[in-house]
Amino acid sequence: MSPRLEWRVATLADFVDETATARTLLLDVPGWPGHLPGQHVDVRLTDEDGYSTQRSYSLAAPADGERVELTIQRVEDGEVSPYLADTLAVGDPIELRGPVGGWFLWHPSRTAPVLLVGGGSGIVPLMAMVRARRQARSRAPFRLIYSVRTPMDLIYASELRRSARDDGGLDITTVYTRSAPEAWPRPPGRLGLDDIERFGWPPQFEPTCFVCGPTGFVEHVATTLVHLGHDPRRIRTERFGPTGG
Ligand SMILES: Cc1cc2nc3c(=O)[nH]c(=O)nc-3n(C[C@H](O)[C@H](O)[C@H](O)COP(=O)(O)OP(=O)(O)OC[C@H]3O[C@@H](n4cnc5c(N)ncnc54)[C@H](O)[C@@H]3O)c2cc1C
Repeated sequence: MSPRLEWRVATLADFVDETATARTLLLDVPGWPGHLPGQHVDVRLTDEDGYSTQRSYSLAAPADGERVELTIQRVEDGEVSPYLADTLAVGDPIELRGPVGGWFLWHPSRTAPVLLVGGGSGIVPLMAMVRARRQARSRAPFRLIYSVRTPMDLIYASELRRSARDDGGLDITTVYTRSAPEAWPRPPGRLGLDDIERFGWPPQFEPTCFVCGPTGFVEHVATTLVHLGHDPRRIRTERFGPTGG
């Protein structure tokens, strides 16, 4: 295994509650080699009896020295996510390995239009791209379609609102699947072909498309993009299905 992928001990420095069920962990990782937006890490937990288990989590922010940000959506009855989202306390250690992934990533030097489509916690690696674009003062035009069940489930809500207001090169559309705010222009419902056609880029613009979320969501969106005429080679997907074991 490459020395970059050794397990490192990370310490929780701080956290931010994003929603009632999602928490961002700010971790200090001595010797962290840096990463690109879109990459993820493996997190390993080991109990006193030596039983250990691991899961993958996307890096939520661009590289920043030895500081790493993860956003964990608590999965009811999950083995790992409730511990990370509720129990891990400031000063506690966890083991972490990465960065992992060489395909689902955006280089801030790229200028081509980008379409980001995220479902639920699938917003996490896409947010790293949005933040990296801002940090690099990139002019690459970005469109983000963010699908969530209800307004209470919006992760990074205020930062996304600010970014959409202040940055003419970044369009953000939120699609609610179960309940929308009052007077929201689109009634609640599953993200459909019409939404992707209307709020995404036309295929002639040759955007790079990044799609992330639960497996069924990703497959639905990727199939729809191909149906709309997007070149499959420009569609990059990340499935947040169950991991580890
Ligand atoms: C590359 C990659 C990046 C990921 N990045 C993130 C991230 O940034 N933030 C994040 O919160 N999660 C992310 N995930 C999902 C994460 O790895 C775990 O699968 C998730 O936290 C659930 O783990 P758990 O131990 O709590 O649940 P488990 O004990 O593994 O599963 C409990 C139950 O929930 C179901 N389940 C497992 N995972 C999910 C899920 N994602 N959605 C719905 N049901 C599920 C299982 O089938 C099982 O029935 C990522 C997954 C991958 C593959």
